[in-house]
Amino acid sequence: SEYLIQTRDLSVGFPVGGQLFNRRVLKAVNHVTLAIPKGSFFGVVGESGSGKTTFGRALLNAVPITGGSAHYDDGEVNYDLGDLAGADLKEYRRRAQLIFQDPYAALSPRMTVRDIIAEPLEVMGLCKSRDEVDERVREVAAMCRLNIEHLRRFPHAFSGGQRQRISIARALVSRPRFVIADESVAALDVSIQADILNLLKSLQDEMGLTYLFISHDLSVVAHTCDHVAVMYLGQIMESAPTRQLFEAPRHPYTKALFSAIPSLDPDDKGKVQRLEGEIPSPTNRPTGCQFHTRCPSATDLCRQKEPEMEICEAGHSVSCHRWQELQTAV
Ligand code: SF4
Repeated sequence: SEYLIQTRDLSVGFPVGGQLFNRRVLKAVNHVTLAIPKGSFFGVVGESGSGKTTFGRALLNAVPITGGSAHYDDGEVNYDLGDLAGADLKEYRRRAQLIFQDPYAALSPRMTVRDIIAEPLEVMGLCKSRDEVDERVREVAAMCRLNIEHLRRFPHAFSGGQRQRISIARALVSRPRFVIADESVAALDVSIQADILNLLKSLQDEMGLTYLFISHDLSVVAHTCDHVAVMYLGQIMESAPTRQLFEAPRHPYTKALFSAIPSLDPDDKGKVQRLEGEIPSPTNRPTGCQFHTRCPSATDLCRQKEPEMEICEAGHSVSCHRWQELQTAV
């Protein structure tokens, strides 16, 4: 298969509410069907509360899948992520890794950089000797452009960018195939962000990685990802090759997200168009189209009937009743 990950109607729900009589299910991910090509830099964007992080966690087997399916196939092994156990689960944990969101919080201050990077190898029992561990740590540190001298130091001695390199080395030391980067550059200065993104790109080529890049930041996604899926309230609203999505967005939500990007034109200063209203609660979903409570183009049909995902161009799909008419509207 040309896809590393394929989900079909994937849902993740959590029970909320302490008492039995008011217990409800919070569906953080709601019927997501996506295919992530091997070797891609696949972006998922959305506001906070869109379910993008939970979607990533479900693909890491870190939260239970409560509906639909997710399939992993890297050519050597293939797994249904819904029922992984035992040796398969262990192997999948090696092949699928997460780069943490906040390098300041993620690294233990009492461990040396060497021990931080080595820990996954030790936990997973991937090496036979301490020498082998050291060799793997040195190898991945060099790939992440960390100075070998630094391995003996503690993380507080490093800048945010260097700490993020340490997190990346830790995620890659087990030689994964699939790497989820969740807001991995959000805490960094813009110039450092670019360094880290370039590093991720070069590691992708060297190690044959497929990334799922989760972000709220459209400008970061535009420069990094080859394909982007836009998530809202646990669902995919639109999914397209990055270029197509940015040049010809079809979904009113995608258009609203784009118009919320501050313009660089000084004449436009302060004319940032904000998206009106709040994301509805996933425990109390709207009927029909999930976006209708904030959509400027909503009609009665939108309020009553949920739109299907439609293909509008090769590789480009959209979930909106009105995408065709809105395309031609002035
Ligand atoms: Fe807006 Fe209707 Fe399209 Fe939903 S289906 S995005 S409410 S126009």
